[in-house]
Amino acid sequence: MSKKLSFDCIVIGGGLSGLTTSLVLSKIGLSVAIIDKTSLKMAKKNEGDQRTTAVSASGKKVFEALDVWDILKKGAEPILNIVVSEKGKNGHLNFDHQTVGTEPMGHILNNIELKNSLISSIRSQKNIQLFPFKSLNNFFPETGAVTIDLNDGSSYEAALLVAADGRNSDGRRIAKIKSTNIDYNQSSIVFTVGHEKPHRGTAYEQFTTGGPIASLPMRGNKSSVVWSEDTEVVASLMQLDDKDFAAAASYRLNDCLGKMNIIGQRKVFPLKLNYADTIIANRFAMVGDAAHGLHPIAGQGFNLGLRDIANLTEEISNARRLGLDIGSFETLRSYQAARRFDNFSLVAATDGLNRLFTDNNKIVRFIRGSGLDAINTMNPIKNLFMRLAMGEVGSLPHLLKGQLP
Ligand SMILES: Cc1cc2nc3c(=O)[nH]c(=O)nc-3n(C[C@H](O)[C@H](O)[C@H](O)COP(=O)(O)OP(=O)(O)OC[C@H]3O[C@@H](n4cnc5c(N)ncnc54)[C@H](O)[C@@H]3O)c2cc1C
Repeated sequence: MSKKLSFDCIVIGGGLSGLTTSLVLSKIGLSVAIIDKTSLKMAKKNEGDQRTTAVSASGKKVFEALDVWDILKKGAEPILNIVVSEKGKNGHLNFDHQTVGTEPMGHILNNIELKNSLISSIRSQKNIQLFPFKSLNNFFPETGAVTIDLNDGSSYEAALLVAADGRNSDGRRIAKIKSTNIDYNQSSIVFTVGHEKPHRGTAYEQFTTGGPIASLPMRGNKSSVVWSEDTEVVASLMQLDDKDFAAAASYRLNDCLGKMNIIGQRKVFPLKLNYADTIIANRFAMVGDAAHGLHPIAGQGFNLGLRDIANLTEEISNARRLGLDIGSFETLRSYQAARRFDNFSLVAATDGLNRLFTDNNKIVRFIRGSGLDAINTMNPIKNLFMRLAMGEVGSLPHLLKGQLP
């Protein structure tokens, strides 16, 4: 029998979380395999995931540490202000980056550009091997190593298996980890618009009882829009032609960007919440959407995944420096302990925020209208919100400070 290929770490999933995890691990000297169902090829501009991602200030530091920020910054638009309001109400919240410093609150990145820069950087690393068009069938933790069986009959082994295989994680299912799943019966329509008025680096978020609509500033006089509504309403909106759809979106956004025109295609994403009971098992850890899939109401899903990656790679690096087993239960237990509170808090906050703003009860409407105005006058609370959204609260692992672990 031929000898199994062996790695320090195998990462299942070559989405944003899996690619970032692999790059960090290889940069600290580990041998890594990335396995994905798809091609793992760089995409052309108009194919694949047309979304943009609002990456927080600490997320930017991760990409600085990985030496990919210099490429990414060419297409990144800084977020200087965030204006939150509710349709038909006067109350609003205005977050200005200058109240907490000089750095932008975050940047809007194009998902394809982000993925392509990670893949290109990974290709220049000698210690990462890419295995496209393969998927995880099963895995078997043993003393000192975990064996991974793939759908094509091949088997590899590693000290640690990391599942970054998204919301319907096969790794999570095989590890028999339960997860809480909620179907919001909402979907997001994601699209790009050109607009009459300049965005001046402002992200607008307007809450409606159907769901939130947010415009995120992009390079040039363009914005990326995420419009979430009940799934049935989304189906009707998708029937509109571009002109009527743009007019409806502009109305929903209180005309803050003036007349809009649709650029490219509109894409629909069904919204569900998933939250795993635990993020570790024997020689197994999860990061990103495999561990927690959020409502996009606060644009924090990938940012939370980056914080998983920062904590996991910190624990792995510490274990390695001390000559310990990187896949041991002690290493993984420290990772789980570091992530539990942050993950649960954000899952609960985004779920609660969506429920608060989609509740049409008169009293709830009164509370949230007065609440937005009241919070807007409380600078210390607003500054704390901003620091949280920027990912800069608490003791941060090295990666979130711009350094390799
Ligand atoms: C409308 C919308 C807007 C959003 N906006 C933001 C935002 O502004 N900011 C933000 O931070 N987040 C945002 N998010 C969240 C963010 O997009 C996700 O958190 C992130 O893309 C998750 O990446 P991932 O790599 O964990 O999972 P995925 O992108 O799901 O990647 C999983 C990968 O695993 C592979 N895979 C799956 N199963 C297997 C298997 N068995 N074997 C091998 N490979 C497998 C898949 O092919 C895929 O490549 C948004 C989400 C939505 C829906």
